[in-house]
Amino acid sequence: MRVLIAGAGIGGLSLNALLRRGGIDTDLIDHATSWNRPGHALCLFGNGQRILAALGVLGAVRSRAHEIVHYTITDASGAPVRSMDMSLLNERHGSLIQLQRGALHDVLRGIPENADLRLGVGIRAIAQSRSDVEVRFENGEVEWYDAVVGADGIRSRVRQLAFERAPGPRPFGAIGWAYIAKVPAVSLLRAEERLTAAQIEDGILEFWGADRYFGIYPLPGGLFGVYCARALRPGERALRGPERRDALLASFADFGPLVEQLLAHAPDAASIFHAPLEEVWRATWHANRVGLLGDAAHAMLPFGGMGASMAMEDALVLSEELRQHPVRRAFPRYVRRRVRRVWPVQFNARMKGIAMLRAKHIPLGVRSLQGVMRDPASFIGPYATWQERVLDALISANP
Ligand SMILES: Cc1cc2nc3c(=O)[nH]c(=O)nc-3n(C[C@H](O)[C@H](O)[C@H](O)COP(=O)(O)OP(=O)(O)OC[C@H]3O[C@@H](n4cnc5c(N)ncnc54)[C@H](O)[C@@H]3O)c2cc1C
Repeated sequence: MRVLIAGAGIGGLSLNALLRRGGIDTDLIDHATSWNRPGHALCLFGNGQRILAALGVLGAVRSRAHEIVHYTITDASGAPVRSMDMSLLNERHGSLIQLQRGALHDVLRGIPENADLRLGVGIRAIAQSRSDVEVRFENGEVEWYDAVVGADGIRSRVRQLAFERAPGPRPFGAIGWAYIAKVPAVSLLRAEERLTAAQIEDGILEFWGADRYFGIYPLPGGLFGVYCARALRPGERALRGPERRDALLASFADFGPLVEQLLAHAPDAASIFHAPLEEVWRATWHANRVGLLGDAAHAMLPFGGMGASMAMEDALVLSEELRQHPVRRAFPRYVRRRVRRVWPVQFNARMKGIAMLRAKHIPLGVRSLQGVMRDPASFIGPYATWQERVLDALISANP
């Protein structure tokens, strides 16, 4: 069997390694010409880490990550509203870690089976018959495959070319910024005395305003990842050039002294990721011999911290199915297994997005229950609240 994997991101690299280990011949391509961006901060729960363990790279990934033991929501001024000690979930599932996407990508690229990755290669056309898929590349070459997998992200070219009805990303109604800042933790601590050192240095910290949110994610090496978003204004679009940095500073200028510190350390506009929040919800993830994986099939809001883990789980399941069944049976089996796993995760991220950015008339104390799991008022045991149970179930579920 010969498989083309278009897109060497988190899911594509995982799938390529797993298929090759299973004796399947693959071509792995990406339209990028180099990998020079460290990318945004990414958290990985135990379920994503189990796939990395299966790939044999969990130790390498963890050595480039920071362990998270707290999760705190504050109001826009920085006053804590809810806080959760993650140790129970960490004990049960392995600790939650936070790292830069580029670090995870480096480790996956370093897997020996991924050495033949071809960069700067795009697809112009896809045509399929009952027995194979003809792929015409942008450089004019033509190749035939038994299967093609679109692991090419939220704006998937494979999805556009091979699916008759190809609904793409749907706007969520908010716009976000992500960047990495180097700020001494001690100056953040001095800026906000209502938070403890552990909450800032080893914890995820989220400031929730009425329809704005500012998240701070500790990384190794004294770095902090920032992801923040606000509801879109009528007619607003993503900004290019220096305006994207100006809009970031203006949008969160009133969020108190700790956020002020992180805004003061924002890099130049070119190093800031800025895009509207979008999701891909599709019922069809395959068309005969062409399948979709990861964000191409089901891009989700970043608030659940599960997009990369879902892409890696997809890779594990699709590799199992392609190793055990002919292509035309493998894809439907893969989709059946994955839809019931992915949709609840996608839904949970959406509910959190709504609580953060769209439910401004509901009191913050109630909205924040969607983010932080343990509600002290209803505490009756180690796994007392529904949110903690939701997360526990999502992390422990089989892919
Ligand atoms: C700000 C932000 C924060 C996030 N936080 C988290 C988090 O905390 N935890 C988490 O798990 N997830 C998080 N995510 C989501 C996560 O990054 C994605 O879900 C994950 O990277 C999806 O993997 P993928 O392999 O499907 O796609 P990607 O990793 O996006 O890879 C797609 C690849 O396809 C390539 N490509 C694109 N178009 C073409 C083409 N036409 N031809 C060939 N190649 C192409 C790209 O160059 C890229 O290499 C976050 C996302 C964002 C934007």
